[in-house]
Amino acid sequence: MNILVINCGSSSLKYQLLDMETKRPIAKGLVERIGMPGSVLIHRKAAGEKEIITAEIPNHMVAIQLVLDALVNSEYGVIKDLKEIGAVGHRVVHGGEKFAQSVLISDDVMKAIKECIELAPLHNPPNIAGIEACQNLMPGVPQVAVFDTAFHQTMPPYAYLYGLPYEMYEKYKIRKYGFHGTSHKYVSQRAAALLNRPLEDLKLISCHLGNGSSISAIQGGKSLENSMGFTPLEGLMMGTRSGDLDPAIVSYIMQKEDLTSKKVNEFLNTKCGVLGLSGVSSDFRDIEGAAAEGNYRAQLALDVFAYDVKKYIGSYAAVLNGVDAIIFTAGLGENSPEMRANICKGLNYLGVEIDPEKNDTRGKEADIATDNSRCRVLVIPTNEELMIAMDTYKIVNEG
Ligand code: ADP
Repeated sequence: MNILVINCGSSSLKYQLLDMETKRPIAKGLVERIGMPGSVLIHRKAAGEKEIITAEIPNHMVAIQLVLDALVNSEYGVIKDLKEIGAVGHRVVHGGEKFAQSVLISDDVMKAIKECIELAPLHNPPNIAGIEACQNLMPGVPQVAVFDTAFHQTMPPYAYLYGLPYEMYEKYKIRKYGFHGTSHKYVSQRAAALLNRPLEDLKLISCHLGNGSSISAIQGGKSLENSMGFTPLEGLMMGTRSGDLDPAIVSYIMQKEDLTSKKVNEFLNTKCGVLGLSGVSSDFRDIEGAAAEGNYRAQLALDVFAYDVKKYIGSYAAVLNGVDAIIFTAGLGENSPEMRANICKGLNYLGVEIDPEKNDTRGKEADIATDNSRCRVLVIPTNEELMIAMDTYKIVNEG
């Protein structure tokens, strides 16, 4: 069976068509600048050249129509008929407290996803647009929603509640939800396979370090903690997001800079993090480059980031009462030996010892700890699309 995986952002759409026999993509691509001038579809067959298709793409419905046309195109398509797509798996960012698992989309499910718009006003609306477009363009094909928050629904109340009056939780659902769940779930399963140990026996700390970053404490395959919170703004400092702050700073900045609540939220999401601290870029490659040339603020941003990650690892080791393996994943975690080494420096009390030669690896699964290291340190490229496709396949075939 082929499964189409769709990940809709506000102005972009990523897709993969996976063959579930081989568990590999047979085509993938990206639509950029939806609703803007210069919109484009970049489509690639598994082993082919990339096709760049420029067209006016005013909305997600047109974007998905173009993707479907590309998939069946006689020249660069990979299937003859849309009937060869058995199901569609959609990434949905926020499932609130309703969804602890992926789910077949029905009218009731759509209603519940719409109720979560309040909790993720930037993310859920484009996710919904993608689902509705597929429902219209591929009637009768099962659609499955896979939530970023679902994996973290196993967090206990003492982990997910903030020090606010309980009524804030009851009235407004203010609590920690956690994000990047699909990635943390995937790498934790891969970690068990790599270590050749049952997932049920493992205490794992998974570090998803990319443009957005979060860390999870995972015991027996269940998430106990995630550094992101009510929104993906909490936790680690990120590419452009501030991460944890004294909450008093927010109103202080609003006052000093004369910002509305909407503007300050935008500021904390887009102008802060390593971009704001370094003044160089939100991209860690640029920051590492600038630091290597002696840029003080770039080095500072890298140091603050590594220190932040180290503090979370320490606190999650306390949550788990020990740790069998630390996992590094996503753009930075998979590709930066320097950052991994920096983070792991001084974690010997946890039994962490990195082998510099083994750490000199990028984008491949590897155990980078020394043979004697009590705690294993794993690099595992994430694959959220495959996880979404596997969940979708399971739901469609097993119910
Ligand atoms: P997201 O999916 O959150 O947009 P990714 O997981 O693709 O992000 O990670 C993107 C980030 O990973 C980039 O901003 C870049 O900073 C970092 N990155 C990617 N490759 C490298 C590399 N070779 N060295 C250092 N950082 C890298």
